[in-house]
Amino acid sequence: MTELTTPVVLHTLTEVNTWRAAAQGSVGVVMTMGALHEGHVSLVRQARERTERVLVTIFVNPLQFGPHEDYDRYPRTLDADLTAVAGLADAVFAPSAADMYPGGASETLVRAGRIGANFEGRLRPGHFDGMLTVVLKLLHVTQPDAAWFGRKDAQQLALIRRMVLDFNVPVDVVGAPIVRDAEGMALSSRNRYLSPAERVAGLRLSRSVRAAQRAATRSRSGYVVDANFIRGVAWGELEAPGLDVPFEIDYAELVNPDTFEVINAAYQGEALYVVAVRVGSTRLLDNGTLVMGARAGDTLNG
Ligand code: AMP
Repeated sequence: MTELTTPVVLHTLTEVNTWRAAAQGSVGVVMTMGALHEGHVSLVRQARERTERVLVTIFVNPLQFGPHEDYDRYPRTLDADLTAVAGLADAVFAPSAADMYPGGASETLVRAGRIGANFEGRLRPGHFDGMLTVVLKLLHVTQPDAAWFGRKDAQQLALIRRMVLDFNVPVDVVGAPIVRDAEGMALSSRNRYLSPAERVAGLRLSRSVRAAQRAATRSRSGYVVDANFIRGVAWGELEAPGLDVPFEIDYAELVNPDTFEVINAAYQGEALYVVAVRVGSTRLLDNGTLVMGARAGDTLNG
């Protein structure tokens, strides 16, 4: 077996600037917080296929964590991460907080607008402002032609698309499909926190996504199935009895995928079912695209 080329590791802004200036051809960037899994790697693979140089950023951004969130215990596994993207990424930019915030705590922030008002934005005050701020900084530092983001974090992706539009950032934002494990659970760096019983509970998210998508398919073959019905089906999966671990639903709603406004029963077209729960002390998210009231035969892409 041939050795895969380990990416060059860049720690400082000077190092990444030098790398960027020397990069020939198109550059693709994948931004992550590390603890890489197959979901992240799929983004890197897509970047590899489309751009000539691929840069992965690994930065656990303190600005997007609330005071009682898991910043300190967030997994940091740089060596394994380098192995995970060997042969795919040309470089990994893993800056320190002091490199990313040379003036200390940032005085200037990007403010998420209405797309970030509900759901994750409401439950994690400041999270989206911190996320958008670091994404804009990393776009500025790395100057990519294209940047890949997972649809796993659908509200984040919608906010980034809007920011890039609002701030005239010359980058192609690419949304990548959710990668799931064999049982359907969306891969997440936080899945490693789950006990076996919590994992069983966590599987309810993807089950509710599939149930919502199945119900929407029926709405396209003659049944009268509206958003309220689909929401009920999804909640039925989440709320079924029989769990022996704490399981709290943060939200489970059907939204307009661009605005993140909750849709009403008359809504037609592409919708997104978004769900977040707390299983024990771990938060899990999932989502899936569905089409409301469209013609039979339309395809889903979620
Ligand atoms: P994170 O390290 O959690 O900030 O994620 C970095 C990027 O990987 C984000 O754009 C995520 O949406 C994406 N991502 C994380 N998990 C998955 C997954 N299971 N499938 C696809 N993309 C993912």
